[in-house]
Amino acid sequence: MTEEKLSFQAEVSRLLDIVANALYSNKEIFLRELISNASDACDRLRYLALTNPDLLGDDAAFAITLATDKQASTLTVSDNGVGMNREELIENLGTIARSGTAAFVKDMESQKEGAGLIGQFGVGFYSAFMVADRVEVETRKAGEEQGWRWASDGLGEFLVADHTEAPERGTKVTLHLKEDAKEYLEAARLRQVVKTYSDHIAIPIRLIDGEEGEDEASINAASALWTRPKSDISDEQYKEFYHHTAHAFDDPWMRLHFKAEGVIEYAGLLYIPSMKPFDLFHPERKSHVKLYVRRVFITDDCEELLPAYLRFLRGVIDSEDLPLNVSRELLQNNPMLAKIKSGVTKRVLAELKKKAEKASDDYKAFWENFGAVLKEGIYEDQSQREALLDLARFHSTAGDELTSLADYASRMKEGQETIFYISGEDREALLKSPQLEGFRATGVEVLLFTDPVDDFWTSVVEGYQEKTFKSVTRGGADLKNIVANEDEKADEADAKDESDADVSALVTFVKLVLKDEIKDVRASERLTESPVCLVADDDDIDMHLERVLKQHKQLNETARRILELNPKHSLVKKLALEIGADSSSAKAEDVAHLLLDQARILEGETLPDPLAFSRRLAAVMEKGLSTDA
Ligand code: ADP
Ligand code: MG
Repeated sequence: MTEEKLSFQAEVSRLLDIVANALYSNKEIFLRELISNASDACDRLRYLALTNPDLLGDDAAFAITLATDKQASTLTVSDNGVGMNREELIENLGTIARSGTAAFVKDMESQKEGAGLIGQFGVGFYSAFMVADRVEVETRKAGEEQGWRWASDGLGEFLVADHTEAPERGTKVTLHLKEDAKEYLEAARLRQVVKTYSDHIAIPIRLIDGEEGEDEASINAASALWTRPKSDISDEQYKEFYHHTAHAFDDPWMRLHFKAEGVIEYAGLLYIPSMKPFDLFHPERKSHVKLYVRRVFITDDCEELLPAYLRFLRGVIDSEDLPLNVSRELLQNNPMLAKIKSGVTKRVLAELKKKAEKASDDYKAFWENFGAVLKEGIYEDQSQREALLDLARFHSTAGDELTSLADYASRMKEGQETIFYISGEDREALLKSPQLEGFRATGVEVLLFTDPVDDFWTSVVEGYQEKTFKSVTRGGADLKNIVANEDEKADEADAKDESDADVSALVTFVKLVLKDEIKDVRASERLTESPVCLVADDDDIDMHLERVLKQHKQLNETARRILELNPKHSLVKKLALEIGADSSSAKAEDVAHLLLDQARILEGETLPDPLAFSRRLAAVMEKGLSTDA
């Protein structure tokens, strides 16, 4: 016999410490966790047996068994699922694989009071130590000779040894119950806990009561939850199924239980979480919805089942038509799967639309969590583009509330033909952009795009309800044709008292000085307060997108910008006068460069030549001081 003592990963030790000392009233959830693992293990073996039926031997009926021994004060949870080999045993029951749990442990440490959250999050297998002071695991992996034993008192170390008395196949977890957890020796109590948390488990859960020698065939409903009529399923059962199948512990924000009948048949039970899953923005953009074929779990990693922009969905889709022995290759480009994908996508978007209309505040909570993901679809999925644009919500210059495009459109000014937006890192910074000044003055609303994905979909979308999208940092401002409303007209009239300077000579001069650095110079329509700003030419890439691409090394060169001068600004006016008088001075040239650098700074960009900037600024300041003196 080889017996080895190993240490838990540091995080596990910390977690066990929290778990063991938790003065937590909901300790019963340990059973939910162990049954959930047993059920997963059976699902996994059932799948492997599709291609390798020998793995099942003559034991094809999956079951989970609870057995009590009052004398020994033990409760065992066994399954005839896939089992574990030595490496898996050490990896799975010695470390924390799930990033969610790891993050949870970190969180708990920072707030000692957080122990009550254990029930909410669930800590999987380790929750056994809430009720047991010693846990033994005997296991044999399906198809392998060697069995293994794992044992620990949850204090830093565990023991692993080979084991001849391990079950034929699968895993048996024995809990040596703590003094204050003896209630889990009672059949009635176990039955109650199973009903509460594990009734949705599709595999029969048997109960063997050691004392009375009773053996109940099944204490749960033992049918797949999604196959039952909605009216037979309670909210609690729906919720527990979500926790089990998503390995999540928040409450679902929305659920969708449906059956599609017709040419192809499938059922679905899908959930949208109320909290952001940890891997939401992982570059793999993995789907987590489980694919079943006629109640048999196939995979939770099927790229073709749902579009990546719905990767926040959790739950199950169960097809009646796919062959049971579907391989990865068969799933690729499978027309049946493609139909399921588009059918489910439409259903989900339709349901979201209903929510958006009927419960707009609640919908905003969803949007804050998953809007940035859903918007990827605007870019990727032309077939759902309209629907997705309808679902999209944005911040705008009109106030703090999120707005839909339809609402934006209803507020558009007479003569306004485009939906204006500005994109950048964050709302606060965007609101200070000089390019917004003219829009604010004419009362034209501008959408504030702050998700990186906004830069991408705006480059492919033609428009919304016949209206095109236009960045306020690109091209002309198009403000001339827009009729300002009465108040704003009055404001404008006030401003007009001071007439614009004739800046044509200044424009020509600056253009000449900066000809190597910018594409053009012009008098601005969009500025009211700032002296200068930069904009991109109509055909050029949006400035923010350009910055994003450069950051990610997807772009090397920068398109040359257009420098706009504000003819209402006193600095520009003075310069216009001065250039009129004498355009040959070195000082005037310095000023032209400084104007450009100033515009760059306003844009949040780094200066290409800070040294020259500093020298010019010093020179101009010095002259300013000496004339004053
Ligand atoms: P999770 O179930 O979320 O992965 P757990 O802590 O509950 O986290 O379990 C850790 C891992 O241990 C599981 O992912 C699984 O690989 C393994 N495991 C636990 N119980 C069993 C079991 N009864 N049969 C086979 N593997 C198991
Ligand atoms: Mg688990």
